[in-house]
Amino acid sequence: MSTVVVLFTSDLRVHDHPPLSAALRAGHRVVPLFVHDTGVAAAGFAVPNRRAFLADCLHSLDAELRARGGRLVVRAGDVVAQVLAVAREAEAVAVHVSAGVSRYAQTRERRLHDALLRDGRSLRVYDVVTVVPPGAIAPSGSDHFAVFTAYHRNWARVAPRLALPAPPHVPVPRGTRSDPLPSRDRSGAVSPGLAAGGEAEGRERLDAWLKDGIERYEERHDDLAGDATSRLSPHLHFGTLSPVECVHRARATGGVGAEAFVRQLCWRDFHHQVLAARPAAAVRDYRGRHDPWRTEVNAAEDIAAWRAGRTGYPLVDAAMRQLRHEGWMHNRARLLTASFLTKTLFVDWRIGARHFLDLLVDGDVANNQLNWQWMAGTGTDTRPHRVLNPVRQARRHDPDGAYVRRWVPELAELAGPAVHEPWRLAGLDRARIDYPAPVVELADGLSRFRASRGR
Ligand code: FAD
Repeated sequence: MSTVVVLFTSDLRVHDHPPLSAALRAGHRVVPLFVHDTGVAAAGFAVPNRRAFLADCLHSLDAELRARGGRLVVRAGDVVAQVLAVAREAEAVAVHVSAGVSRYAQTRERRLHDALLRDGRSLRVYDVVTVVPPGAIAPSGSDHFAVFTAYHRNWARVAPRLALPAPPHVPVPRGTRSDPLPSRDRSGAVSPGLAAGGEAEGRERLDAWLKDGIERYEERHDDLAGDATSRLSPHLHFGTLSPVECVHRARATGGVGAEAFVRQLCWRDFHHQVLAARPAAAVRDYRGRHDPWRTEVNAAEDIAAWRAGRTGYPLVDAAMRQLRHEGWMHNRARLLTASFLTKTLFVDWRIGARHFLDLLVDGDVANNQLNWQWMAGTGTDTRPHRVLNPVRQARRHDPDGAYVRRWVPELAELAGPAVHEPWRLAGLDRARIDYPAPVVELADGLSRFRASRGR
């Protein structure tokens, strides 16, 4: 019986795992391997919230494998060197891995392929991370879709592959050395309200969502206080849930809520196929607009206020505080805070994207960078000049002010929608509250930074 190394990356599960299932189907023993990659850490990507969630995921994956007679092997170092070392130790004939879309993942695949080939072994790469593989559909003359509506139309016509069951048994060779699993200690810089990770947790959350949440998703997804979205994003990011399985199971429930939810999963695929084709979009404008952005040099105070949730605009501040407390933020709040930073304060989108990546448990190069670009007007938005007005957004998506009162305790005494405009309070009341005046005035929803651009 020959051996195959299955390298887990952002697919930390046993259900619907094509690389694992293919190895077992072919009759191999497997070494399930995860590498704490020094390259990922050096890129600043291994931040406390995602490390804490990852630790849960690795414990859960190990437990799932042990329940099937296997176990997880964990190593730390350069991913290629570690994979090679494990493949040699286990005398593996091949390595299986899921395809990634970022420049880093694409380079990792090339390096793995070359190193393994030189060593007389092979690499098999599987499309696992999205529902429809990047590049599988494309308009004629291009390698990717740049407009979501066209992508969605074509995406919806593709029948996703069937979701695979978890293997009943995972035979592993004896004696492959493993580092200990990471500590699950959540002290230090980890957000106090961070969600728990792991496949079992993700599956429970999906079950609960399909039973109780999805039906009303269409009408409630923008209700900030109602918190009525799935919160599956960290599980989709770490791959503790399969997007293919999510689509099949959501569609099986029927209804408009399910279709709206599946459409969001299509947005996820959309950004992944853009990044796969244009990996530089992680750091450079997808559509160069030569915006003379403000930066740390000339907007340091405004940027600090935005990060701290002290801009004086209650809905923006509530959202930024939710991000710090939970390592997660509601989509509507992400849209508003990104618009506020880029279109109102006119600050470079990369500064905001970096802050999000520092804190978000679902922080993802494709979804984060391309949503930031979408909001900054440098990405795929067909209306790149749209600006979200924080007061109007507040009235529409937090009409009673409950979301703001939850996250901005200084304003908790203000009843109803008055909480959205504390600057309207009479002198004495205003002076009693330790809450800043707006960092910038708005006229017709636009700031002087924005107006000066003449758009
Ligand atoms: P639901 O509303 O329940 O949606 C289900 C799933 O669909 C999500 O879990 C997610 O995987 C996907 N999805 C939903 N909206 C989008 C979207 N606009 N783009 C891509 N996928 C989407 N999402 C991330 O996963 N990681 C990020 O780093 C990230 N950064 C963002 C930054 C900005 C500025 C903006 C505007 C959006 C960002 N998003 C990101 C997309 C979206 O906000 C989150 O996926 C969503 O809020 C997660 O909550 P949920 O799981 O409850 O979503």
